[in-house]
Amino acid sequence: MIRAYLDNNATTKAAPAVVAAMMPYMTELYLNPSSVAGQVHGAASAVPNAKRAIAGLMGNVDLASRFVLTSGASEANSWVFDAATRQANSRHLVISAIEHPSVLAAARASTERGHQIDIAPVDQNGLIQIDALGHLLRPDTALVSVMLANNETGAIQPIGPLAEMIRLRAPSAWIHSDATQAVGKIPMDLDDELQEVDLVSLSAHKFHGPKGIGALFIRDGLTLGPLIHGEQEDGLRGGTLNSAAAVGLAVASDIASRRLTNMEHVALLRDAFEDRLMVSLNGLHVNGKTVARLPNTISMTIDGADANELVDALALEGVCIATGSACSAGSDTPSHVLTAMGLLFDRARSTIRISLSHETTDDEIDLLHELLTKNTIAMRR
Ligand code: PMP
Repeated sequence: MIRAYLDNNATTKAAPAVVAAMMPYMTELYLNPSSVAGQVHGAASAVPNAKRAIAGLMGNVDLASRFVLTSGASEANSWVFDAATRQANSRHLVISAIEHPSVLAAARASTERGHQIDIAPVDQNGLIQIDALGHLLRPDTALVSVMLANNETGAIQPIGPLAEMIRLRAPSAWIHSDATQAVGKIPMDLDDELQEVDLVSLSAHKFHGPKGIGALFIRDGLTLGPLIHGEQEDGLRGGTLNSAAAVGLAVASDIASRRLTNMEHVALLRDAFEDRLMVSLNGLHVNGKTVARLPNTISMTIDGADANELVDALALEGVCIATGSACSAGSDTPSHVLTAMGLLFDRARSTIRISLSHETTDDEIDLLHELLTKNTIAMRR
């Protein structure tokens, strides 16, 4: 039984209103949204409504038509690299050292097609070193991919100044930001700090929507080749539209828009927990604590602890936390994010990730505190 769920950066529980809104699209409104029947009986509105809701959450409902629904952020990230590397004259790409494994893998695949990738380093807090990034950019750089918020540490990149600098030094590059961990957790605006960003990826299940749906925002004027050949989504992503999941994305986006102010409360809960744990245990270090970070995320190095064992021990008692990205769970290889921040292997192996949500209760935090303290003391003996 799950007694405390503190792994919300891996995935969140779909909100009851999300599930309720999706159900009719599998029972009565199961019609193909592209069919005449779907259009007459209302199933066709699911996808445009979802785009309006996600555009609203990201600052401007008028940009709704610039979103293409995907199965999630991995697909969106993969599409960006595939499309960028198919452009004529495209050879050079730049990513940051702390990108999600889906971006790293897409970048690696590009090198197999003959592209050159440069990797921008981060500082000890996980922020991209802007000067070092600047030196990597070239007039012929085709794509620069820098995430908005990191999934392991929560560090939020100063995307506005970064994108402005990229635009100046690499004028022909597409600027992509994987905003999967930021959407629904911090306010964002496609017309403000993201105005120079051309492409933005996201996944609904990170903010209490269903799994298997996300989106890619494509700035007006950019032409990407199709991801899946077919008729739907203006020929960009063929295949029958997943109207139930689209409705789930819409409702989750609307809820997240209303709940954004609650995230301040989440940050207070998190900070209070960190302070309390520091009193119960010595030898703790919160990575990136002094820089802007997601209100829900803690990356904590615990001296003398084996993070994998700690996560396992807590899981057995019904408390879900993580060592880092869910994609690398249980791995003995230390996190590339933490090592890029300069953590030595041993310290990276002693680092856990705790991620809250606006649903996290005081009781869950109390239980986490109790079990983390107990198990760390036992492990150190
Ligand atoms: N990017 C980031 C930053 C993520 O945290 C995740 C989810 N772990 C993804 C991309 C991929 O999302 P999905 O698994 O929904 O495709």
